Amino acid sequence: MLAPLGRLWKLWMSIPLWLQILVGMVLGIGAGLALGDQATYLKPIGTLFVNTIKMLIVPLVFCSLIVGVTSMQDTARMGRIGFKSFGFYLGTTSIAISVGLLVGYIMKPGAGVHITAEHAVAKVQQAPSVMDTLINIVPTNPVAALANGQILQVIVFAVALGIALVLIGDHGKPAVRLFESLAEAMYKLTDMVMKGAPYGVFGLMAWVAGEYGIEMLMPLIKVIIAVYIGCILHVVGFYSLILKVFAGLCPLQFFKGISNAMAVAFTTSSSAGSLPASMKCASEYLGVNKKISSFVLPLGTTINMDGTALYQGVTALFVAQAFGIDLTWVDYLTIILTATLASIGTAGVPGAGLVMLTLVLTTVGLPLEGVALIAGIDRILDMARTVVNVSGDLVATTVIAKSENELDEEHYNADMEQSVLIAEQNEAAENSAAG
Ligand code: ASP
Repeated sequence: MLAPLGRLWKLWMSIPLWLQILVGMVLGIGAGLALGDQATYLKPIGTLFVNTIKMLIVPLVFCSLIVGVTSMQDTARMGRIGFKSFGFYLGTTSIAISVGLLVGYIMKPGAGVHITAEHAVAKVQQAPSVMDTLINIVPTNPVAALANGQILQVIVFAVALGIALVLIGDHGKPAVRLFESLAEAMYKLTDMVMKGAPYGVFGLMAWVAGEYGIEMLMPLIKVIIAVYIGCILHVVGFYSLILKVFAGLCPLQFFKGISNAMAVAFTTSSSAGSLPASMKCASEYLGVNKKISSFVLPLGTTINMDGTALYQGVTALFVAQAFGIDLTWVDYLTIILTATLASIGTAGVPGAGLVMLTLVLTTVGLPLEGVALIAGIDRILDMARTVVNVSGDLVATTVIAKSENELDEEHYNADMEQSVLIAEQNEAAENSAAG
């Protein structure tokens, strides 16, 4: 009796997490449809999962944001390039989230779902004014901000502390190392928590399916289509425009050059994991000088998440529509601001965007149960958004390299085989110069 169970468990543990989550979702829907109202008894498993995700938010944002800021060097040139990259990253991210909101607004993936959450409606009604939101962005007591999970305040304090740590140079190094180690631990913890996702998704999907029936599935498929359309629009439309307008470069040549990195991003769902491939594409096919790519790309991997922001725009609107909550323009602005800032604190690992979605939903007072609906299909969305994240980093690197005269255009415009040859010649020349 026990032996087959053991084998089944081994088999279960050997399949990748995203597949486990999908299985959890399918089984959850099945259980919910079979059990009907009784499926509500499975909800606590999901609530436990949502609680563990919430547990991560404050320390994860705080530590990874400080590490992101301190990863900028303090020499004059680095400062200038850092400043440019930061501006570029924030600008493109806020456009990405606007694209997401627009697609979500037009496609209305959550329309007709009708889930009730009285508490959420009450919270939305009590949302503070823009002025209060702006003034309250600076915490009077950072420890209280951390304790109460005031994420915007935590972000502001973390950025300020990160800048101060860079400015004090060597004195700041021990603290930076501490935060680096804590951030690593938080990434690991996220990994551990995500292992519980299949079960949490099972419980929540069972509850949703039991309560709302099969009609729930159609909207989720609509969410997937909306996120993919948004991602394609942003990459093909917006990035091509930037390359053409800001750098006078041929977009097609760019996309050919980064296709390997895109494939790695799509399959691993991790921009941090795709960094080696991005570095290679930048120097081997795009002709970007390593001096630029070795700084701008890792920075982008840490702070630039256009795809994640876009996805948060679509999914936040989905949740609002599904729960029948009307958003005001202040809410839209808050979503743009929060998602842009949150993208700085999103780690480039699978599933990090889902954790950050809870942050965006909390800030505008949308019900966190919405995360559960999204969790079941998150991996499919993660694959697309990671491709956007990685492409965005490479666009920034190329445009900044061009502006710093560190882009070899002949190399950029060469075909793939020629590019590799030029890269090899450059490498040989560098080595002989060094030797
Ligand atoms: N997986 C994404 C990345 O690595 C982050 C996210 O979950 O949105 O870029």
